[in-house]
Amino acid sequence: QVPLKPGRSLMDWIRLTKSGKDLTGLKGRLIEVTEDELSKHNKKEDCWICIRGFVYNVTPYMEYHPGGEDELMKAAGTDGTDLFDQVHRWVNYESMLKECLVGRMAVKPIAAPKEISSAVSEDKKQLNGVLPEKKVLASSAKDLGPSYDWFQTDSLVTIVIYTKQKDMNAELVIVDCQDKRLRGEIIIDDHSYLVEVDLDHAVSEDVAGNFCLLQHLLEIILSKKDNIHWKMLGQPREGHNTFVKRTDRGLFYRKCKLVSKTEVTHDTRLFCLMLPKGTHLHVPTGQHVYLKQIIAGTEVVKPYTPVLPFLPLDFQEPPRHNGVHIYLMIKIYSRGLFTQALDHLQIGDYIFVSNPEGNFKKSQVQTSEDLILLAGGTGFTPMVKLLNFALTEVSCLRTVKLISFNKTEDDILWRNQLEQLALKDERFEVQFILSQPTKDWVGKQGKISSSLLSELVKRSRKDSKVLICICGPSPFTEQGVQYLKDLGYSQEEIHAFTA
Ligand code: FAD
Ligand code: NAD
Repeated sequence: QVPLKPGRSLMDWIRLTKSGKDLTGLKGRLIEVTEDELSKHNKKEDCWICIRGFVYNVTPYMEYHPGGEDELMKAAGTDGTDLFDQVHRWVNYESMLKECLVGRMAVKPIAAPKEISSAVSEDKKQLNGVLPEKKVLASSAKDLGPSYDWFQTDSLVTIVIYTKQKDMNAELVIVDCQDKRLRGEIIIDDHSYLVEVDLDHAVSEDVAGNFCLLQHLLEIILSKKDNIHWKMLGQPREGHNTFVKRTDRGLFYRKCKLVSKTEVTHDTRLFCLMLPKGTHLHVPTGQHVYLKQIIAGTEVVKPYTPVLPFLPLDFQEPPRHNGVHIYLMIKIYSRGLFTQALDHLQIGDYIFVSNPEGNFKKSQVQTSEDLILLAGGTGFTPMVKLLNFALTEVSCLRTVKLISFNKTEDDILWRNQLEQLALKDERFEVQFILSQPTKDWVGKQGKISSSLLSELVKRSRKDSKVLICICGPSPFTEQGVQYLKDLGYSQEEIHAFTA
């Protein structure tokens, strides 16, 4: 530490960074920096430093650096990561030097990691790392994906992920900490950022409660089992610190315990699975997970869509919808490979559950005035959370209509709850249509058809904004979508849930 000149305190530095002054000299542009380019900026009056692949113009920071200018100059024009780690491990340089960010080090063609966009990477290679201005802006946001850092005290290890995203929420973060293995995945649009390491030492696995999201900053706080100083966070695993397309990231499974199994109908059950203590996972509305079981020595995987434990009538969070349990409504087929094995699980047995997937976006509902849900059999499952979300959180919604198609009366899922909900909320209406009714059935019958849909699917007003969601057996969904299009509904007004 060296004495700093008056007006050069940390607070003064923060003020300067917030002043809107161009601290990089690049007018807000982010560029790719080659080693050659970096080495040219090695003077006090023009000093760039690379830390963990990111290049900062630290020239304006010189006089504010608590360690003094000479210390900073040791890394001038070079990769200062090691030097930085020795002295400043605990310093939040990412936010401190945010306004000094020049860009990222250019990827050397031989050691090129998985590229996010091949078109952009071609350009980069041709231009030897310096991108033309207009392309820099388009590509830099993705290229400069999230990053992380870690800090420790005697008893805690804190991993900070700089998501660089403003609209973060708990559904976009999945954390697993089991057996000294830490895995944190952040979903940003259709990309995924991963931190995955074998931790240096043992920690208490209860991370779920020690998870903190502050705007674009995510903190995962781990409690050390022994109060010893960690030399490193841990050994990186494959995919650690990468930002790739979500679809390029392999599915990750954790072992969940079956805690209850209740009857819904004669062949359908509500399975309640408990996430491990070290897992934070919320399945977003409209998304599914994959279950994995070893059946006859082979890994078998099938998709299922989590529901709520029941349809809340007061539109508040159901008591056990607390991020610890996952509820699945599953039909057991007498000759079904997976569902038979599932049905044979005992309370206390374990099953593997993946990260969520699916292309439904809540924003599709958020602007709707009329929501129509067409469900065939267990195609009802995505409608459960959707219904609750729409009635609870979508203020512009005027009508919600569920049309539930089943074979017989005995196959209707949560009939009583749906009828209760319709009584309670005047925006909601439910209709049951049976394809194999008994002669006592006085309601509608048949399968999905153009005439049925033209009669039942209607806008509440001539030009009202409508969203129609459909899910069920593939022929049901495919025919339904076609009939709706024939009736004049546009692609944007229809969402089909498929695999
Ligand atoms: P399988 O062994 O695949 O067979 C199922 C039944 O169909 C058996 O009775 C079998 O004899 C019969 N069958 C199979 N193939 C044919 C055929 N070609 N012709 C005639 N009969 C045939 N299901 C739910 O219950 N709840 C959910 O929440 C849920 N969510 C899903 C989400 C998605 C995105 C998708 C794609 C499917 C979802 N499913 C859901 C269905 C689930 O994934 C399984 O397909 C289902 O559980 C059957 O699996 P199984 O291995 O037991 O049956
Ligand atoms: P089911 O056999 O009991 O049929 C329910 C209703 O669907 C029938 O009464 C009928 O009205 C309609 N239907 C069935 N076959 C049809 C056909 N060939 N043509 C037109 N309409 C038909 O349904 P189930 O056994 O509960 O199966 C539900 C299906 O939903 C499964 O195939 C499952 O994979 C699918 N599903 C998909 C998702 C998803 O997100 N993609 C989620 C849950 C369920």
